[in-house]
Amino acid sequence: VNSEDQIIQLIKKKLGSPKSPYGIGDDAALIDPQHLITTDFLVEGVDFKRTEDLKRVGRKVINVNLSDLAAMGAVPEMALGYAAFPKGTKRSQLERFLAGLKAAANRYKVRLIGGDISEAKQWIAGAVMIGKVAKGKPFLRSGAKSGDDIWVTGTLGGSILGKHLDFEPRVREALFLREDLPVSSCIDLSDGLGQDLPRLLKCSGKGAHILPESIPVSRDAHRLSKKTRKSALEHAFQDGEDFELLFTLSPRFQKRLLQRWKRRFKTPLTRIGQVTSQKKCRLAGELWKGFDHFR
Ligand SMILES: [Mg+2]
Repeated sequence: VNSEDQIIQLIKKKLGSPKSPYGIGDDAALIDPQHLITTDFLVEGVDFKRTEDLKRVGRKVINVNLSDLAAMGAVPEMALGYAAFPKGTKRSQLERFLAGLKAAANRYKVRLIGGDISEAKQWIAGAVMIGKVAKGKPFLRSGAKSGDDIWVTGTLGGSILGKHLDFEPRVREALFLREDLPVSSCIDLSDGLGQDLPRLLKCSGKGAHILPESIPVSRDAHRLSKKTRKSALEHAFQDGEDFELLFTLSPRFQKRLLQRWKRRFKTPLTRIGQVTSQKKCRLAGELWKGFDHFR
């Protein structure tokens, strides 16, 4: 196995999975029609450096899980936290970690109700989080229709320069969308647009036509491209950990979306293309590439 998708396929084959939406395949799993559960964790040396401020790590532990609930339009409710860390970890380091957890949980009114700790050679920390959709259905990856517009929040690329730890999960934006608009599918961008967009469309059995000049390339993608051999646009496509929302919506609602969005949020919102019935993603002849933990 050499890709995350292949590993997930193997897990599905060996362990089985209830039919969508009750099983593997979305950003969070449905427990019943209203409740969702998700988990995500971070590993020292993979997701953050040994020297990193553990307050940023604690915050990210909560925020990555919030981002997955946001991708399904759920209101976050409560979480269990877990961590393993080396013997000899200082009290002050633990306090930094806990301060980060608490700050992010308070910000989004998540109740921390328990967890577990253990010992390990390096830090591993994560959370299990439960959310709720008050009425209607959660967003899934599988509902995109031909002709829908494809939208993305924020700007993309270069998250390694800091955003990967300090991003704001799009919880408020997701809840606004769920209240006001019939979003047909949604995912949060964790592995890069180049991977997560095809992933979303595969779940919907569709393809996409993307306008490269419309991609909201971040300032950090431009900064990074000066040090790498890649263009800023390549960074916007291939870099992971943007934690923005990518969603599809019928063009009938374009005007309503833009008007209401501008009134409520400073977060950029960009239409980057359209869903097509051919099962391919096209971007002016370019290949799709993203970030994969196992490549
Ligand atoms: Mg996700």
